[in-house]
Amino acid sequence: MGTTLYCQSCGMPIDHPEMRGTEQNGSKSLEYCVYCYADGHLINPDMTLGQMTDLVRTKLKEMNMPPSFIDGAVTNLPQLRRWTRKPTP
Ligand SMILES: [Zn+2]
Repeated sequence: MGTTLYCQSCGMPIDHPEMRGTEQNGSKSLEYCVYCYADGHLINPDMTLGQMTDLVRTKLKEMNMPPSFIDGAVTNLPQLRRWTRKPTP
């Protein structure tokens, strides 16, 4: 049983290397997915946790995920590393 990796910004599973964002040197990020992170940078660095919560809810609804699953996913968002880090000045 392997450890599942989750994007530390949106909570999406990133076990598949194709789902992982890229670092500046072209290697795969172990922290963020391809939708959140590219070339060593967060794609939407100014996004707030509230905006991410709305986005994740919308995306999961589009994927026809059950409401209980969606609630669980957004409940976990504040614990992800992106949102527990202090904002950089
Ligand atoms: Zn992500």
